[in-house]
Amino acid sequence: MTYRAIKGTKDILPAETARWQHVEQTVRSVFHRYNYREIRTPVFEQTSLFARSIGELTDIVGKEMYTFADRSGDSITLRPEGTASVMRSYIQNNLAQDQPLTKVYYIGPMFRQERPQAGRLRQFHQFGAEATGSPTPETDAEIIALAIDIYRALGITQWSLQINSVGDEECRPRYKELLRAELRKVADRLSPESQKRLEQNPMRVLDSKDENDRALTAGMPLINDHLNEACAAHFGRVKELLTSYGIPFTVNGRLVRGLDYYTKTAFEITSSELGSQDALAGGGRYDLLVQELGGKPTPSVGFAAGMERLMMILEKKGFAAPEPRPRLFLAAADAPARDWVLAKTMELRSRGVAAETDLLGRSLKSQMKEADRQGAAFVLVVGAAELAAGRGVLKNLSDHSSVEVALDDLHHSV
Ligand code: AMP
Repeated sequence: MTYRAIKGTKDILPAETARWQHVEQTVRSVFHRYNYREIRTPVFEQTSLFARSIGELTDIVGKEMYTFADRSGDSITLRPEGTASVMRSYIQNNLAQDQPLTKVYYIGPMFRQERPQAGRLRQFHQFGAEATGSPTPETDAEIIALAIDIYRALGITQWSLQINSVGDEECRPRYKELLRAELRKVADRLSPESQKRLEQNPMRVLDSKDENDRALTAGMPLINDHLNEACAAHFGRVKELLTSYGIPFTVNGRLVRGLDYYTKTAFEITSSELGSQDALAGGGRYDLLVQELGGKPTPSVGFAAGMERLMMILEKKGFAAPEPRPRLFLAAADAPARDWVLAKTMELRSRGVAAETDLLGRSLKSQMKEADRQGAAFVLVVGAAELAAGRGVLKNLSDHSSVEVALDDLHHSV
């Protein structure tokens, strides 16, 4: 029996982890620049948390969640996204108590049983941020600018930002009724998927990928023409701020996002450097979620971004992150020197030097090859003669220069 990783999951191998770490570090540093602090929540939660917050009618809850009964019969779900867990934690731990506005970020794996393809996995990674406690458009603009700044910091220039307003609990129901009435006129010609959505989630019909659906809905009313005064003013201010921050965007009246809990601002960042799965990040405002989950009414805005798609772009651009390499490779020329070399390697490591030596009892020639293969900066060969003299020759493997050094003082020489 041989084992393979579960379909739709992927090992991130040692050859790729330097790039992942570089991206994670950059992401964290941009979050910190904007004064967001990290939150780490469990990867599984009660199923009802997600059903409640993401919405029964969404693809995620309807068909993609990894849900199972644990040994005590409780229904558990592997988190398909981050926001629900963060908000659960926000309420449970009363994070609001010390500050009116809580700014947090997360990085970690998410799980959705989707059909795997390039850029779409069943275990994938997201980073994201949530600003909780502020109703202002300034906060929406900060969240969007933050997401964009992460791509900029990583040297990704080929992105585009689409924004929309999906209204609020006052103007959206009115608009939905209007849209539903229009959709009913063409209902029998819509795709089966859109027919299903028509009554309960009509706005999703507008972002259908089906060509025919798109043609049928081409002239239909869009939410951003039917906003109430408050939502329109909010949207206007977000656009004004983005413009003043130098962030180009287009308004897409069909952008509704998959999740039910959005209010007002919705946005998506896509990249032309990706294939059919071109969404890098999405987010928006969700003023109704905290109260839906049993907390006090708390306006919030956030975004989530996919790591794998970001990695695909960096890989395509040939981006190579610096790999951790040994500073010094200590090679033993003969058997008696071996113990000294082992002890010295340990001593150097305890002094903070990345030191490596041979653990396989290899010949000196193979040890030299290995030092080279590992990209060590320096190599030092130690045998009986060096031990007797207390001195050795330190070779610099990049410029091939050599210098004689005292063995006692190695840590100063490398
Ligand atoms: P969503 O929570 O669906 O808005 O997703 C936010 C971002 O996460 C997307 O824009 C993608 O970059 C990424 N993403 C979502 N689902 C997957 C998946 N199955 N595999 C890889 N990345 C994903």
